Amino acid sequence: MQITVVGAGVIGLSSALALEERGHVVRIVAAGSGDTTTSAVAGAIWFPYKAGPPDKVAAWAARTHAWLDDLADRDRSAGVDRLTCYEITSPSEPDDVVPWWARGIAVTREPAPVVGAPRAWKFTAPRVEPARFLPWLASRLRATIEIRTVDDLEGLPGDVVVNCTGLGARALARDEQLVPLLGQIAVVEPGGADLGTSITDDRGSARSDEIFYAIPRRDEIVLGGCSRPASPGDVPDEDRALTERIVEQARSLGIAVGSIRRVRVGLRPYRVEVRLERAGRIIHNYGHGGAGFTLCRGCADDVVALVDAGATA
Ligand SMILES: Cc1cc2nc3c(=O)[nH]c(=O)nc-3n(C[C@H](O)[C@H](O)[C@H](O)COP(=O)(O)OP(=O)(O)OC[C@H]3O[C@@H](n4cnc5c(N)ncnc54)[C@H](O)[C@@H]3O)c2cc1C
Repeated sequence: MQITVVGAGVIGLSSALALEERGHVVRIVAAGSGDTTTSAVAGAIWFPYKAGPPDKVAAWAARTHAWLDDLADRDRSAGVDRLTCYEITSPSEPDDVVPWWARGIAVTREPAPVVGAPRAWKFTAPRVEPARFLPWLASRLRATIEIRTVDDLEGLPGDVVVNCTGLGARALARDEQLVPLLGQIAVVEPGGADLGTSITDDRGSARSDEIFYAIPRRDEIVLGGCSRPASPGDVPDEDRALTERIVEQARSLGIAVGSIRRVRVGLRPYRVEVRLERAGRIIHNYGHGGAGFTLCRGCADDVVALVDAGATA
């Protein structure tokens, strides 16, 4: 089939790849690609953060975990590596109830390797470097990316049009359930920190929109973060006080990070439920919140299944 994918973030490129692997002929149209996308700002560790509904998210996440995990062994140029992750949660969280997001993922309850050794879920997860992974995805495609803004999905050519426009879907699909959730990261020198271990401290999230995470890359560390409701529109400037809080929190946990290289702000495309459904000739695939990398392949496989189902209907 001839398929037009709109959007060249992690969701559009992953969908295009899965469709081409299935033998479809794909063209990609996007207002921007690479560094201009939200995807370029992400951490980007596997973890189903700010995405729903839980049942579908757990299944998409498990599928993507397996796909990325295999990629980490298969092709180093994809920028995917396997990290040991600690998710520090409230001390009141029971040790014997496996979290909803860990379907098919081995998790244990252990002291985290930070000051005070708080209890954490320990698991292994893939971490993606967007600056390597997005070009890698594009390089695997026969399709090239045509840069232009779309204002009418129905007007696009193809047997099927796949809408992977992230926050752009708010206007394009007239969907006010899709809202921006602001995130901010500070990318720092590695200092003496362990580049094989990721730490998330979720203990403050019940009372505020601020969380903490340290996600190592091959030669730098991403520190975050927050999840704040924001206005649709331009991405706001850095909140300096937030940057200071993030770096201070790393130090207070005993994570030996170096100086700041750059700060990035982005707007997560959040929807209570990811929209992945077919409406006539259009398949929508947007609203992945804080988990676009975590869900990308599972959702792409479902896009392929929706195309196949339409072909036999
Ligand atoms: C600070 C921060 C940290 C994050 N950390 C993680 C993490 O650790 N793990 C994780 O899994 N996720 C993380 N995320 C979330 C992740 O970045 C998003 O879920 C993901 O990038 C969404 O991808 P997308 O392809 O849907 O959107 P985008 O990357 O925004 O791509 C949308 C594409 O659609 C195009 N487009 C939009 N409107 C139009 C239009 N009208 N016409 C044509 N093209 C259009 C854009 O140009 C772009 O190409 C983080 C996000 C932020 C902000």
